[in-house]
Amino acid sequence: MVNKKDIKILSQILDIDEVKVISHSIYNEIGIILRTEPIKLYGVCPSCGTESHKLHQNHRHIIKDLPFGEKQIFLEINRRQFKCKICKKPFSEEFNFAQKKRTYTQRLANKIIQEVLENDIQSVASKGIVTTEEIERMLKDASEQINLTKPTNLKRLGIDEIALIKGKGNYCAVLIDLDTSKPIAILSARTQGVIEETLTSWGVEVLEQIKEVSIDLWQGYKNVVIELIPNAQVVADRFHVMVQVNKELDTQRKQEKRQIEEIIKLVTTSDEKSKNEKILEALKNSKYALLKNELNLNDEQKNKLIQLKAVCPTLKVMHELKEKLRTIFNKTKHWYPAVFKLGMWLSKAKTYFPKSNNTFIRWFDEIIAYFDNGTTSGTVEGINNKIKLIKRSAYGFKNFENFRVRCLLAWHFNC
Ligand SMILES: [Zn+2]
Repeated sequence: MVNKKDIKILSQILDIDEVKVISHSIYNEIGIILRTEPIKLYGVCPSCGTESHKLHQNHRHIIKDLPFGEKQIFLEINRRQFKCKICKKPFSEEFNFAQKKRTYTQRLANKIIQEVLENDIQSVASKGIVTTEEIERMLKDASEQINLTKPTNLKRLGIDEIALIKGKGNYCAVLIDLDTSKPIAILSARTQGVIEETLTSWGVEVLEQIKEVSIDLWQGYKNVVIELIPNAQVVADRFHVMVQVNKELDTQRKQEKRQIEEIIKLVTTSDEKSKNEKILEALKNSKYALLKNELNLNDEQKNKLIQLKAVCPTLKVMHELKEKLRTIFNKTKHWYPAVFKLGMWLSKAKTYFPKSNNTFIRWFDEIIAYFDNGTTSGTVEGINNKIKLIKRSAYGFKNFENFRVRCLLAWHFNC
């Protein structure tokens, strides 16, 4: 048995204001067990809020706490049952430091979640403090806390998607608050039905507040917004618009390269052969020089671009149109001049970008809407990169649900 002074010190070190230490034992192989008792002399009935001093029974059990140095710490706690004189029923008391039916303290759970977010479940579990099952339970509890809160004050929503398994067509949708740049939901699929279900669960009040929704150029998303978010303007995300233009440019590049390769096989004179080989040389490895934002090219890529433009007149025009479009997005601050500039762009692009031209005409209102507030899911890029990292380190997450929880916790878990 320890003396009173030691008990006081142990309680101070433990630093949980709801309990005091009454004794301790040290076991070499196991760790330290601290026997505790609640400090309060009464319980508060969860049904009626009445304080009760009438002890019904003691209920002692052992839970894990934060380790002390190399030693594992166990707390023997007494979660007493009291009998409420109003309800005439027994109830067991609540503690802030430890939830009911959990085998660990809340502060241990918080620390473990933080570690899992920085590493992965397996490596945290391998330290032997908590089991994989306990970690999954901790993540689930924490994510339920997040799920309880509907998005508040959501004005600008972004809908985007990320590939779960590359090349497998397996995508999940990510809903983002564009003002806080935080994901608010990670959905198991990007289908209209799944998105509708989530949005509907937020309730009309939340949906009516939303003023703008940024989407890629997919009709399915547009339908959802029109149906469920009555006051929102749909904005076609400018980066997805650029993606479309870049795709068409790249298709042309590949096609010209193939054609030249065929021609080289057929030509007979050495003059023609060397002329075509020069073109092929310019086309080789030209993808990034052509597609990247011109301002971001390094010297080698700049030279590549000059070389390419000198021998491929169509790609030259297309590249200039692509850069022109980016400038329009960057420099135009009002929808009115944007209508004219984009109109001019389209009239030139019609022959060079027939696919993009058609898409632009179908989405003209939504593309122009960008110029009202500059709303874009561009911030999503950062979110996507972080999610990709989580995905890569998600080894040990048994299923999508764990992955989803981990993503949400990465942005919303504060302890
Ligand atoms: Zn009661």
